[in-house]
Amino acid sequence: MTKRKPNYCPYCGTELVTREFDGRERGFCSTCQEFIFQNPAPIARTVVLDDEKALFVKHAPRTADGKWTLPEGFLEVDESAAHGAARELAEETNIRVPPEDLALVRTGHYVENPDEGSILSICFAAERELTTGTPEVGDEPTDVQFRDPQELLERDEQTRSVDLRCLEAAVGRLRGQTRDFSL
Ligand SMILES: [Zn+2]
Repeated sequence: MTKRKPNYCPYCGTELVTREFDGRERGFCSTCQEFIFQNPAPIARTVVLDDEKALFVKHAPRTADGKWTLPEGFLEVDESAAHGAARELAEETNIRVPPEDLALVRTGHYVENPDEGSILSICFAAERELTTGTPEVGDEPTDVQFRDPQELLERDEQTRSVDLRCLEAAVGRLRGQTRDFSL
């Protein structure tokens, strides 16, 4: 399985040939005798809600254009989606939550750049009371704060629609409220 469209076998390096399987043209390794599937890469992210605010991290301009985003990251091979979400939350913000206390609120699929493949977004949420720790800048962000998403939008600070959709889903799932974070 690969995120980008594969030209060579990731296991043995053989140049792939094209074969049809399940109605699609796919790469096939004639040495390993198997298809090399291209799949979405899974990212887990977490909404921590504190009254009207949610925990955001600000990224350096070179990594995510200086945007405020939810804490997130790619899953490791040996962890569940909830464990990955909790690990990334702790690494980036110093906020800790037991994975079993995370509520699954939304999954999504998106493509930023077709050459880079696609992302499967898995969004969890928890109320602040279920978490411990104080926000601290972790291993990648340049800032970590509880921010009011409406204020972020009104001030025209850089956000991403994928995070705003997760916030809406989190408020709906945890509090039964309908919110629309768009101007
Ligand atoms: Zn191979």
